[in-house]
Amino acid sequence: MDAKTEQKEWLYGKTLTELEAIVQQLELPKFTAKQIANWLYQKEVSSLEEMLNLSLKVRGKLAEKYQVGFIDNSNVQASIDGTKKYLFPTLGGKFIEAAYIPDRDRATLCVSSQAGCKMGCLFCMTGKQGFQGHLTSGEILNQIKSLPERETISNVVYMGMGEPLDNLSAVLPSLEILTAEWGYAWSPKRITVSTIGIIPGMDEFLEKSNAHLAVSLHTPFDDERRKLMPIQNVYPIEQVISHIKKFNMGKQRRVSFEYIMFKGLNDTPRHVKELAKLLNGLRCRINLIRFHPIPNTPLEGSNEATLKSFQEQLNQKGITTTIRASRGQDIFAACGMLSTKAMVTGSE
Ligand code: SF4
Repeated sequence: MDAKTEQKEWLYGKTLTELEAIVQQLELPKFTAKQIANWLYQKEVSSLEEMLNLSLKVRGKLAEKYQVGFIDNSNVQASIDGTKKYLFPTLGGKFIEAAYIPDRDRATLCVSSQAGCKMGCLFCMTGKQGFQGHLTSGEILNQIKSLPERETISNVVYMGMGEPLDNLSAVLPSLEILTAEWGYAWSPKRITVSTIGIIPGMDEFLEKSNAHLAVSLHTPFDDERRKLMPIQNVYPIEQVISHIKKFNMGKQRRVSFEYIMFKGLNDTPRHVKELAKLLNGLRCRINLIRFHPIPNTPLEGSNEATLKSFQEQLNQKGITTTIRASRGQDIFAACGMLSTKAMVTGSE
């Protein structure tokens, strides 16, 4: 790709409304926008030349300012359990990761929404890396499009690097493209967006998208959560949950809470009792997650017996609780382990 092509804006990642604005600006017929969307998202072409039902003149006009847009992964690591971790360069010269997690007849792709993250959660490698930039909608979707296992993906979770609701202006268009009839036409039930609980972003996401919501909870107690997740100082978890309770989620949409189990910190009967109180009246589930040790953190994971007992106690309280299988730990692809710090700073 020459320098001139690199500077051209991507069409991939634009919503139909954005494509309509582009064709209007180029004084092309309005229906051209739908034709372009079809080439981008249903046929997934990689160049303007492949958009055969557009005249040479139309393609020429588009090519003056735009390219389709595509970035191939620059590295892949494979785990002994079948999980793969893909490394992608970003347009801003940073790096992000996506984790592909096959499981019998399903396969989940965990995508990043930012390079690094601002949120500084104590247990997270991405948080330790700091923030390097937002991804565009096209860069988010490119992680799906360019995956060699593209055809096998059954679910996408926005749980990779970054806080998706801190980059709503790219995340919402990406969700629209995935679910719109002119886009990929996926059911929103195949998509889960995770957040640490940024209330204004969560409100907007719940109104504008039908994808599932996952909230990182990790402890029901204010003082403990402040230590684990600085966001608690801005949006306390009680307020996050009361917002969700007020929202009519409908029957199809799922709310789940992610709960990493830390030894002696958030894994006691006291926590079960408080969780039951906090989530009372909300149709939801809890996913318990094993903590994967990361460098330079004092935290330790709960043992298997505690995990199991915690799950049983919550189930007895009427909260559907599952233990998430750990995947890709050997290649640092498991929850909270994604980091491209070495590539950003040249350090370990
Ligand atoms: Fe950011 Fe999520 Fe890591 Fe927290 S857990 S630092 S929000 S990527």
